Amino acid sequence: MVASKAARERKAASEAGTLARVRITLDAAQQFVYTISCTACSARDDRPWSTYRPGSDNGYMAAMDRWIFHLHENHRDTEAPCLAYLGAAQQRLHERREGQR
Ligand SMILES: [Zn+2]
Repeated sequence: MVASKAARERKAASEAGTLARVRITLDAAQQFVYTISCTACSARDDRPWSTYRPGSDNGYMAAMDRWIFHLHENHRDTEAPCLAYLGAAQQRLHERREGQR
């Protein structure tokens, strides 16, 4: 059973931590599109940092990986459940780079 959009949003938001604002929209192909924006960066800056990735589970993974790197690079003192996956996210990034060669 496919989880509802609202349930996916809640799950992603709880993983992403308190700085994240997660929105899920549907694209023309009825796929989930994840947008994660950073409330800390949008407070200081006109253009909020955000990551936008289409696709259901792959989209979730790609958006969350970018969010993990953003937290790691810009908000080191922040705690978020997703940071537990930093190592896995770095590994995926490494594999994508290897695959592009
Ligand atoms: Zn930020």
